[in-house]
Amino acid sequence: MLFYNTQNKLEKVTFKSAVTNGLAKDGGLFFPENLPYFSSQDLMKLAELTSHERFFSILYPFVQGCISEKDFSTIIEQTFNFEIKVCSIDQNIKTLELFHGPTLAFKDFGAKFLANVLSHLNNNELTTILTATSGDTGAAAAQAFFNLEDFEVVVLYPKNKVSYIQQKFFTTLGNNVRTFAIDGTFDDCQALIKKAVNDEDVLLKRKLNSANSINICRLMAQICYFFEAYFTLRHELRDKKLIFSVPSGNFGNVTAAMMATKMGLPVQKVIAATNSNDTVSRYLSTNKWQPKKQ
Ligand SMILES: *Cc1c(COP(=O)(O)O)cnc(C)c1O
Repeated sequence: MLFYNTQNKLEKVTFKSAVTNGLAKDGGLFFPENLPYFSSQDLMKLAELTSHERFFSILYPFVQGCISEKDFSTIIEQTFNFEIKVCSIDQNIKTLELFHGPTLAFKDFGAKFLANVLSHLNNNELTTILTATSGDTGAAAAQAFFNLEDFEVVVLYPKNKVSYIQQKFFTTLGNNVRTFAIDGTFDDCQALIKKAVNDEDVLLKRKLNSANSINICRLMAQICYFFEAYFTLRHELRDKKLIFSVPSGNFGNVTAAMMATKMGLPVQKVIAATNSNDTVSRYLSTNKWQPKKQ
């Protein structure tokens, strides 16, 4: 499967290139040219499989040509090794518990999958993973790449602006994880990383990747748990369709829910719920990109 640059649809790259580059040179994201589709008969067949076999079937079309079936099956087993639980609030309302990973956030799925895929594709070349964080992303990236051979992680975070618990998730690891408290905001940390990944001198010395960009791996891993919610609830649903309400910030997770819908899941609608962190929803309604000052 090929992946196109959202800023320039004529630029198409392989899965390997999309993952190892993270973002296109012009800042665009890489998105699959077409999505695999699962008919209701296919879904019935998927229901017979184990979770790992299902994730393999759902995701293999994306990586075909770049990763062998055997290796991909190992990556799936190493990635999805924490629980995806559906809990009942009442007969019609359920919560999808995605916080059973090492940092208690759904980011663990995407980060772990990205780490295992990159580790498979990077040919033992030392790679530095840069991440700016206000908490969740840095913690998930640090835990996912912790002690992974050929990787070092550099986490930048705004001093005194990350909760104590979250800070512990990445500042206490050591080994291949280095952390820097920056006198400034999250945006200042992000700006430093953007500067590094665009600095030709730095790039001559080391291979960099950012755990902040919406790497296609993150979306792929997140598609899986929406499928899993469906398979857990399949018998209760009968002819009804699912409605997913997704707490949203950058809208990555809600994008994964929409991709799962396009791939054939019986979903009636997807709701992107935001709180005061509403930059994307204001952008969608006004067409103006105006992040709030922190
Ligand atoms: C990251 C995160 C979000 C926002 O997800 P996006 O993919 O950026 O929309 C919402 N809730 C929690 C708990 C998170 O960790």
